[in-house]
Amino acid sequence: MAARLIDGKAAAAALRARVGGLAAMFEAATGRRAGLATVLVGEDPASSVYIRSKRSATGEAGMESIHHALPADTSEAEVLALVETLNADPAIDGILVQLPLPSHIDAARVIDTIDPDKDVDGFHVVNAGRLAVGDPAALVPCTPLGCLHLLRAELGKLTGYHAVVIGRSNIVGKPMASLLLGESCTVTITHSHTRDLPEICRSADILVAAVGRPEMVKTDWIKPGATVIDVGINRVPGAEPGKTRLVGDVAFAEAAEVAGAITPVPGGVGPMTIAMLLRNTLVAAHRRAGLPQPE
Ligand code: NDP
Repeated sequence: MAARLIDGKAAAAALRARVGGLAAMFEAATGRRAGLATVLVGEDPASSVYIRSKRSATGEAGMESIHHALPADTSEAEVLALVETLNADPAIDGILVQLPLPSHIDAARVIDTIDPDKDVDGFHVVNAGRLAVGDPAALVPCTPLGCLHLLRAELGKLTGYHAVVIGRSNIVGKPMASLLLGESCTVTITHSHTRDLPEICRSADILVAAVGRPEMVKTDWIKPGATVIDVGINRVPGAEPGKTRLVGDVAFAEAAEVAGAITPVPGGVGPMTIAMLLRNTLVAAHRRAGLPQPE
């Protein structure tokens, strides 16, 4: 393997430790802990696992985790009412409603009911707008924020690089592109209708793959020396019958022969997402308390 491995686990551990230190200072300054409320509707197994990890990471960082587990048949009106209650609660700095929601609930309506200044997932349309216009008050979606953190650590200043983002979802691709534009990269956003995707990818100094297609990005899509960030999490059949394994959107082994640096899956972008959720909660808490925003 020629590429440097970008260790998201180590970067996330360092960030979580830093957030923990800042959370203790916040508590000393305000007499209360920063609080993150999580809302889970139903019992989707993957969502339950995600919520458990988020809650334990919140506690480990010295912040308060307040969880609301609602049955799958909870009405939309009841979820909206809970969000309004959390909006009004001074002990709550961040609100995270775990997606996907059951199909009888309009997720967009729920997200748009969250106070934008408590929207630590950064999915509210006000935060999307703030990010698009470069307003520093934006709470930015955690996964692309984590990718940016890894890129800065790897490359330093990103000015002038050609960044290609594969995927244009509201939670990864679009905010990733806005963040890279904010760093003065030249940004190309690609999607399922893009013509000659491999050719475009080959011109990328920075390639971010957020597609959801196992090992789609091949070695000949990558410019020698490029920095490759693989957001994809895809479960595929494993070597043994009945077993599965996780792979990214990039064919890791072959891409690592050409790239300058690359994130693995797992252990790359994934751990950064929760670390950034803690960071966003702390940022929201500082703003709400009228304290200067921590770096
Ligand atoms: P979405 O399904 O919302 O978006 C996928 C995007 O990929 C779309 O914009 C789609 O284009 C594009 N796309 C699909 N097929 C192709 C193709 N053949 N060529 C080019 N573009 C294509 O996914 P998300 O953005 O939510 O997630 C992307 C991946 O990242 C998934 O694997 C997900 O599991 C993972 N993920 C990982 C996280 C982490 O913490 N590491 C967090 C969030 C997501 P179009 O718009 O035209 O349909």
